[in-house]
Amino acid sequence: MVTLRQLFLANNAQTTDFPLLLEFERAEGVYLYDSEGKGFIDLISGIGVSNLGHSNPKVIRAIKDQVDKYMHLMVYGEYVQTPQVRFAGKLVSILPDNLQSVYFVNSGAEAVEGALKVAKRYTGRQQIIACKNSYHGSTHGALSVMGNEAFKQAYRPLVPGVGFIRFNGVDDLKLITEQTACVIIETIQGEAGIRVPDLAYMQALRSRCNETGTLLILDEIQAAMGRTGKLFAFEHYGIVPDILLLAKALGGGMPIGAFVSSKQIMSALKENPILGHITTFGGHPVCCAAGLAALEVLLDENLADTVAEKEALMRSLLVHPAIKQVRGKGLMLALELENFHLNKKIIDRCITNGVITDWFLHCDNSMRIAPPLIITSAEIKKACDVIVEAISFYCD
Ligand code: PLP
Repeated sequence: MVTLRQLFLANNAQTTDFPLLLEFERAEGVYLYDSEGKGFIDLISGIGVSNLGHSNPKVIRAIKDQVDKYMHLMVYGEYVQTPQVRFAGKLVSILPDNLQSVYFVNSGAEAVEGALKVAKRYTGRQQIIACKNSYHGSTHGALSVMGNEAFKQAYRPLVPGVGFIRFNGVDDLKLITEQTACVIIETIQGEAGIRVPDLAYMQALRSRCNETGTLLILDEIQAAMGRTGKLFAFEHYGIVPDILLLAKALGGGMPIGAFVSSKQIMSALKENPILGHITTFGGHPVCCAAGLAALEVLLDENLADTVAEKEALMRSLLVHPAIKQVRGKGLMLALELENFHLNKKIIDRCITNGVITDWFLHCDNSMRIAPPLIITSAEIKKACDVIVEAISFYCD
């Protein structure tokens, strides 16, 4: 009999010869369950998505209620759809005053595309500045601002006029000039292996953008929605972006992204030509209903406020001489080991022993630790025991 795994390999496009090939039947809380009922702790939240854990009943209820009313009605921006309006209203109510116009799209990469377009259109400038080791997605525009040559060289020509600066390198800020339309930067770099910039750097970046009339785009696709202990990571830095990018956890497990800006900046998409960004499914009503429910849970349960304590517990338990560093903020952490070979063996052993983790696109000697924010102390303890056991197994 042909197995599901064989069919997956036969008919579902692969981008590596080494997919994880794990098979799950259901998911609840921080656990994914296989067909034999074995539970695996999800330490990566489907890469930054499942901040509320899996199968949150309020999110499921909202999805079911919306499906019963309507699904797709029209391309983005024409009809007044209750879930879209209510979700945008809720987001705006918790964001600073200049972030009051929400354009819902389908994914993180599409939010990046929309933001780069509106920045060029609004400023009338063409140059874009991004950071070395950045990751902003995999479409052509997003790839153009990715700071890793290995992943993009095969796809040239890409969007022209993109310059790269060092992340957290104050000296490079002088490369931002009156010719620069925008700087796109992750508030905390994710795929670089979780790199947290200095307060002074972020403030100097904001000032430099102000001086040069450059729009500051903060990509919080991975870092927002409570993950770092604040609803939005820029709150750690006392700065506000001109354009904020959201996706991943925004939809409570459903696919949605957004770029958020002022009405003034966003209105550049309305003129010469009209319809500066078009999307059929962006802001899908079911995704908006799920996202709104997820945001309400996040706020009602004050989940972001629980994150710092959980980070501290993690850090106190992830102790072993082979651990070179635990980097990050909140529940957006990277555990650095000697090299990829060791990291991979440890990750595989963790998975065998019921804890799912992985490495980073631009940092393969580090292990990703980004569990759902609802993880309990007991679950943290259990997961850390498995990690430390795996490290001891190979290193002691
Ligand atoms: N920006 C950041 C910081 C990301 O981590 C990702 C995805 O990992 C993206 C953008 C792209 O998002 P998506 O995969 O939804 O296109």
